[in-house]
Amino acid sequence: YEKLTAPKTGTRVTPEAYASKKFPDDPIVCLLKGDGIGQDVGSAPGITTCAAKVLDAAVEKAYKGKRKIHWFDIHAGDVARSMYSPGITDDQIKALDEDGQRKVYLPDDTLKAFDYYKLGLKGPLTTPIGGGFRSINVFLRFKFDLYACVRPVKYFKGVDAPNRNASKVDMCIFRENTEDVYCGIEFKSGSDRAKKVIALLRELGYKSDQILDSAGIGIKPISPERSKRLIRMAIQYALEKKSPSVTLCHKGNIMKFTEGAFKDWGYELAKAEFRDQIVTEDEVYANFGGKVPAGKLLIKDRIADSMFQQIQLRPDEYSVIATPNLNGDYLSDAIAALTGGIGLAAGANIGDTAAMFEATHGTAPKYTGQNRANPGAVLLSGVLLFEFLNWFEAAKLVTDATEKTFAESDEIAKKGPGGKLYVTYDIARQFPGYGEAAGVSSSAFADRIIEHI
Ligand code: NAD
Repeated sequence: YEKLTAPKTGTRVTPEAYASKKFPDDPIVCLLKGDGIGQDVGSAPGITTCAAKVLDAAVEKAYKGKRKIHWFDIHAGDVARSMYSPGITDDQIKALDEDGQRKVYLPDDTLKAFDYYKLGLKGPLTTPIGGGFRSINVFLRFKFDLYACVRPVKYFKGVDAPNRNASKVDMCIFRENTEDVYCGIEFKSGSDRAKKVIALLRELGYKSDQILDSAGIGIKPISPERSKRLIRMAIQYALEKKSPSVTLCHKGNIMKFTEGAFKDWGYELAKAEFRDQIVTEDEVYANFGGKVPAGKLLIKDRIADSMFQQIQLRPDEYSVIATPNLNGDYLSDAIAALTGGIGLAAGANIGDTAAMFEATHGTAPKYTGQNRANPGAVLLSGVLLFEFLNWFEAAKLVTDATEKTFAESDEIAKKGPGGKLYVTYDIARQFPGYGEAAGVSSSAFADRIIEHI
């Protein structure tokens, strides 16, 4: 490496470990602390450092030294820019080609480390300036084929949520990450390429009143292979977690050969690969009087627009959701909003041979170096990492302790204003009579969670 030093202890997670799902007890995990609230500034720890401290404490408590994460600090975003390209100006970056811009924000060192160690936990990163290289996250997804964007959303007692059904929310969304309109196959209105595509469509019989000559065009590829591998991962997750159902969320009533096919391939896969463990909604009504047989995972589907109603009106009827890329983008933010607290939205991008766990919020730059932001989303992304490693005991310790920390502040706040809370400003200001100032620092919140572990 140019500027990195790999840990001397710990074991690399290999592709074989991914295939067998047998992970080492001492995995090396790449840690991208991130920019803004993710980074440590002087003596003020960022949210990623605070979260890692809680995760380490939970592993120690659960496994008494038999298991341990070996963190490997690697860098991306603004932090990488200042480390690997010190002094480079915005104009100089804009003059670079796409790969040159990529190297500023995602240096070869970082790619090499992640390519080898294959497992990471990431804080938020600043979106690069420049324009050619548009997104670190999207680049990582495509480069390492991290085809599932996994977003668990759960309500924590004590967090003020806008929806009165919020306490019933316990869902996990599997969003397809590599297809759909996100492939970036677009043709600008009036361009030669758009004209060529439109000419081809005319040959196929589409008339000028259906597609205007002036239209911009976007392409939406959705394939059986990529739909099925995503849906397979969602079903396996649901079976492992003993979740009641997997819902295929699609807009197949309109887009029959993409979204509709996604749904059809989902049922096909479920019946071909999980026949003994699943039952479809149609079968439940046809053969079991509308009641899901004990021990079976229910496979159902919903049209995307109705899904947005359902998550608000009947959230308890949904647990694991598998969906194409664009639906998943909208849906995961909508479900996270139901439960309140952007500081709590965790996520992961997972493939067959690599996985990156990450907070879904941004860098909240105005809070940089203040030790104030909520480390909850990075922490809960770490819980997802533990579950991925099959370290369920440590995962539960963190979830329960986080729940306790919110709940105790809720109890204190219910007694009236002026009590001492243990949550960060974003949660504290939600309690009646309390303001942002009643919140504690990121590190104090993390320490309180550790006390509850
Ligand atoms: P943001 O999520 O950074 O901030 C929006 C607001 O949400 C903040 O002002 C803050 O009030 C609140 N907030 C976010 N995270 C919080 C936390 N952990 N604790 C407490 N409050 C929190 O969104 P933005 O302002 O649109 O984006 C800022 C930067 O982050 C941009 O450069 C953007 O591109 C980047 N971004 C990165 C990611 C990522 O790396 N995954 C995701 C989204 C945005």
